[in-house]
Amino acid sequence: MKILVVGGGPAGLYFATLAARALPRAEVTVREQNPKGVTYGWGVALMRSALDALRPSAPDLVDELATNATWHDVVGVGVDSGLVEVRTGAAGMNPRWWVLSLLEQHALAAGVVIDHESRMDPEALAFGDWDLVVGADGVNSGLRTALAEHFAPTVEMGDNWLAWYGTPKLLPLSILLQNTDAGMWVAHAGQFSAEMSNFTVEIGQDVYDAQGFADLSDAESLSVCEEVFAGWLDGAPLIANHSAWFQTKFVTCRNWTHENIVLIGDALHTVHPSIGSGTRFAMRDAVYLIDALDEARWDVAAGLRGFEEQRRPSAEGFQKAARRSLKWYETLPGRRVADPVSFAIEYFMRTGRIKYATLRGENKELFHAYETFGGAVRS
Ligand SMILES: Cc1cc2nc3c(=O)[nH]c(=O)nc-3n(C[C@H](O)[C@H](O)[C@H](O)COP(=O)(O)OP(=O)(O)OC[C@H]3O[C@@H](n4cnc5c(N)ncnc54)[C@H](O)[C@@H]3O)c2cc1C
Repeated sequence: MKILVVGGGPAGLYFATLAARALPRAEVTVREQNPKGVTYGWGVALMRSALDALRPSAPDLVDELATNATWHDVVGVGVDSGLVEVRTGAAGMNPRWWVLSLLEQHALAAGVVIDHESRMDPEALAFGDWDLVVGADGVNSGLRTALAEHFAPTVEMGDNWLAWYGTPKLLPLSILLQNTDAGMWVAHAGQFSAEMSNFTVEIGQDVYDAQGFADLSDAESLSVCEEVFAGWLDGAPLIANHSAWFQTKFVTCRNWTHENIVLIGDALHTVHPSIGSGTRFAMRDAVYLIDALDEARWDVAAGLRGFEEQRRPSAEGFQKAARRSLKWYETLPGRRVADPVSFAIEYFMRTGRIKYATLRGENKELFHAYETFGGAVRS
């Protein structure tokens, strides 16, 4: 069997590894446009529960992800200078480039051929040369666009603007709010290695316009963010890695497959960075696809049907939660938040997946103070 995977991100590399392990005689090729070791972004968080869900598919690889991670048992919620810590389940953070290099090592060891600096032009691709083509080319998928009449995608732009920075300031996994007259500034932070933390800045259109970010260079934008968050950064710099301002894209596809072609990961459907689960979501797609193909004894048509049937319900549930999170974040820039405790409770319950009673059970002292001094008591 000949399998082509377009895109060497988490979805593509994980699928390629699992496919080569399942079918040692298959020819599995990954085409990746970037040079080896080059990618965007900084640290990515994976909840312990996400690693537990992935582990059965490749225990050796997932154990390495867990062992290398910087673990966070609490999430900090900071408002201006006050911070409270909330327990919601452990999350491990790894550098994104390290995750990709680990996935690549396992793919190569399984016999996958990885062609870097090999940009696939969907218009020129001879799909019939392959038994299976897996489109894992990310949120701006060229394959999805070229075959839009078959996949019927919807791409909705988010209102907020984000810039993904790193910093040598070692920070807890946290959401940090900075109230200003122009609106709220939000940072999603967290240490992901011995030396570095993530620092993703999120703002609304009003702040974006008030600062004139459209006319500033990336370096000037970075300096403004450093100034605004100086209190949290304690004099440490922000560092860029392809860190231009961007708006999120919320992608869904009416159809997931066309003939011998299937989309997975961000190319097929996205979740919002604010729920920190896109990598896990993408890798879970790979597992569902392998399971469905295995179940169909690698009859591609039956396997692709099985993938869509089995993966759709949970994927759509997850996207619903992500959409609630996205919409909630879009109200944030217009607000002024004073109290970190009541904000923390609202924050963790925003997607509807975490219940008040569960949160309360894991954070008894915090909730005792909240309920005693005037917070609303909900059952
Ligand atoms: C600010 C921010 C923070 C995030 N934080 C987290 C987090 O904490 N935890 C988490 O789980 N997720 C996080 N994510 C989401 C995560 O990065 C993505 O969801 C995940 O990378 C999706 O994996 P993928 O393999 O589908 O796509 P990608 O990782 O985007 O990989 C697609 C690959 O395809 C390649 N490609 C594209 N077009 C072509 C072509 N024509 N030919 C060849 N190659 C091509 C690209 O170069 C890329 O390497 C975050 C995202 C952002 C933006």
